[in-house]
Amino acid sequence: MPGGGAVAPDRTGLTVLVLGCDGSWPGPGGAGSGYLVRSPGAAVLLDAGPGVLSNLQCLGDPTSLTAVVVSHAHPDHWSDLPVLATYVRLGLGRRELPVLAPADVPPRVPLGSSSPVVWDLVGDGDRRVVGDQVLTFSATDHPGTTLAVRVDGAGRSMGYSADSGPGWGLDRLGRGLDLALCEATFTVAEEGTARHLSGRQAGGLARRAGVGTLVVTHRWPTCDATVVRDEASAAFGGPVGQAVIGEELTV
Ligand SMILES: [Zn+2]
Repeated sequence: MPGGGAVAPDRTGLTVLVLGCDGSWPGPGGAGSGYLVRSPGAAVLLDAGPGVLSNLQCLGDPTSLTAVVVSHAHPDHWSDLPVLATYVRLGLGRRELPVLAPADVPPRVPLGSSSPVVWDLVGDGDRRVVGDQVLTFSATDHPGTTLAVRVDGAGRSMGYSADSGPGWGLDRLGRGLDLALCEATFTVAEEGTARHLSGRQAGGLARRAGVGTLVVTHRWPTCDATVVRDEASAAFGGPVGQAVIGEELTV
């Protein structure tokens, strides 16, 4: 069991708990995209890919969940949402679960008539306040409407790229990101084969945006983690982290 998921009742800062970080499909024992952003006044789940609900219960505190963001309509970012909704209704006895997503997501997600999900449709440039977190969205370079998000809370700022090709940049989330969680799906060898980023491209985007700390994520399970991270580090010009399930990142 990976460590680091305990909820601190006296939480003061902004943290990101990795619940799933595999790209496009979950690898053996892995999970699709899912990141729990916690501050003193909110716990926002960024994406709910396959395996995220189980890891949320193992590593996080589901009762504290304030809202969910679904970045886009690809199922590796939302396939656990229907069962999360069931768990919230029957397991936690809650009547409402706010879910922020682009307009093309709700028609894809099968939910029952008694689902607690309350959709809040968001788009490029939109801003939402969730508890003490301010979320600002930016449309990326990826099929459909895909939204990266900047989260400001507890005096800190983090950016999550969601999925993107190189036609978008972390700088679109504004300056002053203390932490960027950026997709690096593959290596230089796969650049251009899909609208995703290599480690090299992710590192370059983070350097241009002037982010404090870069953590790469959404790696295809078939791609070598060390190669992706080393590419990112060389382009960023400093050490780069690779997201791991159970790790809690301090923003
Ligand atoms: Zn994806």
